[in-house]
Amino acid sequence: MKIAVLPGDGIGPEVMDQAVKVLHALVSDGLALEMEFAPIGGAGYDAAGDPLPAATLDLARQADAVLLGAVGGHRYDSLPRPMRPEQGLLRIRKELNLFANLRPAVLYPELAGASTLRPEVVSGLDLMIVRELTGDLYFGQPRGIHINAAGEREGYNTMRYSESEIRRVAHSGFRIAMKRGRKLCSVEKANVLETSELWREVVVEVGREYPEVALSHMYVDNAAMQLVRNPKQFDVMLTGNIFGDILSDEASMLTGSIGMLGSASLDEHNKGMYEPIHGSAPDIAGQDIANPLATILSAAMMLRYTFSLDEAADRIETAVRRVIAQGLRTLDIYTPDTTRVGCAAMGDAVVAAL
Ligand code: NAD
Repeated sequence: MKIAVLPGDGIGPEVMDQAVKVLHALVSDGLALEMEFAPIGGAGYDAAGDPLPAATLDLARQADAVLLGAVGGHRYDSLPRPMRPEQGLLRIRKELNLFANLRPAVLYPELAGASTLRPEVVSGLDLMIVRELTGDLYFGQPRGIHINAAGEREGYNTMRYSESEIRRVAHSGFRIAMKRGRKLCSVEKANVLETSELWREVVVEVGREYPEVALSHMYVDNAAMQLVRNPKQFDVMLTGNIFGDILSDEASMLTGSIGMLGSASLDEHNKGMYEPIHGSAPDIAGQDIANPLATILSAAMMLRYTFSLDEAADRIETAVRRVIAQGLRTLDIYTPDTTRVGCAAMGDAVVAAL
């Protein structure tokens, strides 16, 4: 099992060091993981004049999975757009055809105070949003701004999904539901949009192949409301690109800490790129205060979804729960009744808890 490790910029290398430590601990226990490192983002630009150097892309293509830290930094903000760190990220997602984006929102009971919602509404939350990533309004043609018949400027975008695009992401959603609580809620706007009408039809068809999964449907406006009213009703939410963009940010904020959440983007064969949802946090880089748990949990997702190593993934997730229960906290989740630790010490604590 070969992993391309791309630490990136800012806090990326610090948090990645901790995830690699945890994976090394599993290797010592006999897991056959091989890790190879390469630069991306600003680090790619510094090393090879390109935010996605050809050698990095080659490595990512050969590997079974990619583990990424974060990219970006003020130093690169004045570069021409194609040379900016974020372009490296967009390109690698496209090159690897990663169309299914997985965004979990998990809230450990001990951290319920960090949410803006009442603790009883969010404590123990564990949901997964599966968002289609390469189609929909963001990519649909035609698009543009033109002068219309009335002589004024008019902007337009096209929401479109082909049957095969819906089918493949629906399969991803159902496969993930099979690994979790076997409940899938498909979110669209079929009462108004034809694209959504087709979405619902195809999801129902695919659902017949997964009879153990309880399938439900919800309009997106209601889903946005239910996420803050009673988020624990959901296990897996399956949705298109624009609805998923909005709902996944909403869901991540239910948990209150950006440093705790991982994510994945998968292709048809479950090859994936795994990364924390946070950015490179230049404001805290190099100070050993970043929270590495989002990256460590991304590595656990990688073991579960690409390598089907559910037991190893469970071990990491349980170890993270344990360090939280022990009261260890990085600065972003620290409260006066807990013990403050740095980034590296948090990584060590997770390894010890394994
Ligand atoms: P950010 O996520 O980097 O930081 C937002 C805030 O959260 C900051 O105050 C930061 O200190 C804090 N934070 C983030 N991760 C943390 C962690 N693990 N532990 C503790 N605190 C953490 O977002 P931003 O400030 O808007 O962007 C900074 C840079 O990151 C920009 O260059 C941006 O383009 C880039 N970015 C990259 C990605 C990515 O690589 N996927 C995503 C978002 C932003």
